[in-house]
Amino acid sequence: MGSSCSTLAGKTSNPGHGADHPHALIIGLDGVRPDCLLAAHTPNLDSLMAQGSYSLDAFAGGGSKASDLTTQATSSGPGWTSILTGVWRDKHGVHDNSFQGSNLDQYPHLFGRIRAAKPDAELVSFAHWAPINEHLLRPNPGMATLALDCKSDLEVAVLALDQLSTSDPDVLFLHFDDVDHAGHAFGYEAQVPEYLAAIALVDEKLGVVLQGLRVRERETGERWLVIATTDHGGLGTGHGGQSADERTIWLAARGPGIGQGAVSPGPGHTAVARTVLQHMLGEVPRAWGMADEQAFGLDSH
Ligand SMILES: [Zn+2]
Repeated sequence: MGSSCSTLAGKTSNPGHGADHPHALIIGLDGVRPDCLLAAHTPNLDSLMAQGSYSLDAFAGGGSKASDLTTQATSSGPGWTSILTGVWRDKHGVHDNSFQGSNLDQYPHLFGRIRAAKPDAELVSFAHWAPINEHLLRPNPGMATLALDCKSDLEVAVLALDQLSTSDPDVLFLHFDDVDHAGHAFGYEAQVPEYLAAIALVDEKLGVVLQGLRVRERETGERWLVIATTDHGGLGTGHGGQSADERTIWLAARGPGIGQGAVSPGPGHTAVARTVLQHMLGEVPRAWGMADEQAFGLDSH
């Protein structure tokens, strides 16, 4: 385990916490096409979808017309920025993986919105792709309680389990990158065994994390929002363009207020930020300019 990821804040007593306070686990899987998610052996993601709402035809890449100011590359920089800020390129300003031209003071990572409302919140981010923490969190010290760059997906999962068992996170964001590596090496297609095997492997790691969360929920009485998505699809051995194979993504969520069933057509992956903020803060002011009018998920009432 690398030194960047080897220390944890440790068990903290957090008086603002309790079973009646909202909690959220955000799961980010890099480069997982929805048709390949269906083709791969993924019992843990399958059960997340069965427990809650899901979409297999949500989208990355902003508006699909080239003239649309929201149109953005189906790349990880713009993608994770949209997932975590709830807005597209026209607002967050991230065009590519350099993050140059970003406008993240005006449209911050969702941790920034939560931090402003809940100064004591424990907001934790473990990312296998380092630019997420580097560009979206570190420029604002204190926005995250803990933001660690991990050397492997396994390290992300182990650290997540450690957080759930020894700390009191309010929001935990996890980013897994191995599937995207397999896509670039072998191809993003359901006929590519190496790609499907990578999806199955990250599902196994998610199984460990989600089992830990279930135990925690039973022991504490907490009821967590769990929401999972991907930043882009893929075409051949790449992504970045506006083809359906690159734009079409999936979303899944379960937890308080989220009903069961398929949402089609699905929203942009910007809906993740709105859904988490609505859950954590109870409201999302119009002034934040979120791309989505509604939180993701079928209403259970
Ligand atoms: Zn990639």
